[in-house]
Amino acid sequence: MIDLAEAIALVERTAQPLPPRRQRLMDAVGRRLAAGVVADCDSPPWDRAMMDGFAVRSADFAVPGEIVELDVAVDLAAGDVTGLEIRPGTCARIMTGAPIPAGADAVVPVERAVDGTAGVHAGGRVRLAEPKFRPGQHVARQAAAFARGREVLAAGTALGAAEVGLAAEAGATHVVAEPRVRVAIVSTGSELVACDAVPAFGQTRNSNGPMLTAAVSLLGAEPIPLGLAGDKPEAIRALVAQGLAADVLVLSGGVSAGDLDLVPAIFARCGVEQVFHKVRLKPGKPVWFGVRPRSDGGPPTLVFGLPGNPASSLVCFELFVRPAIMILAAAGRDRWHLPRERAELGAAAKAAADRPVYLPCRMAYGPQGLVATPQPWTGSSDLLGLAGAAGLVALPADGRVHEPGEEVEILRRDAP
Ligand code: AMP
Ligand code: MG
Repeated sequence: MIDLAEAIALVERTAQPLPPRRQRLMDAVGRRLAAGVVADCDSPPWDRAMMDGFAVRSADFAVPGEIVELDVAVDLAAGDVTGLEIRPGTCARIMTGAPIPAGADAVVPVERAVDGTAGVHAGGRVRLAEPKFRPGQHVARQAAAFARGREVLAAGTALGAAEVGLAAEAGATHVVAEPRVRVAIVSTGSELVACDAVPAFGQTRNSNGPMLTAAVSLLGAEPIPLGLAGDKPEAIRALVAQGLAADVLVLSGGVSAGDLDLVPAIFARCGVEQVFHKVRLKPGKPVWFGVRPRSDGGPPTLVFGLPGNPASSLVCFELFVRPAIMILAAAGRDRWHLPRERAELGAAAKAAADRPVYLPCRMAYGPQGLVATPQPWTGSSDLLGLAGAAGLVALPADGRVHEPGEEVEILRRDAP
């Protein structure tokens, strides 16, 4: 059994940022690029009409203010192309987004058509009154925004919505970006049934599976829920072996001292080397952590055995798995852990003598600042007390009753 601070330090020392990965553009949303994106096309890719109207030759509009009468040679909707060249005295009826045909170099908006000619199509004659004609008007020129071969997104850029749109336009179906950490999740326990089942007497719904899946998603990592392993060593071994292909394997149950708590032995048989087992902590004492080196020399899989009781499982996730995922994801140190703050205790809370205690609490602002009030909570199997708790009060191992108004340390769970 080791101290909490030592256990956290061991996780921090063991986890190393994963190297960047080539991945599908949509899998990299929100992550930073590790290599720039180079455009495979010009933008716009050709001279593009920016208004609905008529594609004309500027030379036909040499006299300012004059009404110009032109033959409509062709109709061009967005997506239409023509080999036809616009000759002097003619024009094309054109829609926004269509390529400007050869010979034309400007667009006169449809609103400028006079004498009832706004609706004329190919074969007709349009009369255009454009009082302030500018050569090249309403045309977005080819490569005006960027040219093929240009780096449009630099390494280090975070992929927000606009950046994803730009990468898509530039032809980047895949990008090299910070990796999305893959986290396999396995639930042990023969008593467990899937959460969409009605449990018989003696059975328990698997709440850890969905809960840990959610916790992983909320960190921006990719959960890989592998389901229920029961308590049969072979079944657990098969799912552990599968989970070891991920960057992190999080297994719940089977790590405390009961007869069926076979998980540490199975980890050992699967080549996972123990870093620690059991931490002075309440709830969460049985937590197990180890590393499985990879035969190809790639980054090792980090393996966590969390206690089966759901509240213990989640507290251990927040304290140990969260920093591991954040470090693998190359997040800044300030994002590794839940934010720590000082707060005034809103109600009495009893500390344990032998290990720090974490208690779910509500958070509010009082006249003196932040107030943390422990929620009614029956302990490590009680998720009701943890649901909606904006923080965890961290009481030191002093065995005292901490009185309302005392200053305590809290971990914020409500930070964005
Ligand atoms: P264990 O750590 O396997 O000894 O389990 C401790 C307690 O947590 C037992 O009451 C289990 O039924 C319960 N438990 C274990 N795994 C889960 C799970 N995935 N979902 C809900 N409860 C669980
Ligand atoms: Mg069990």
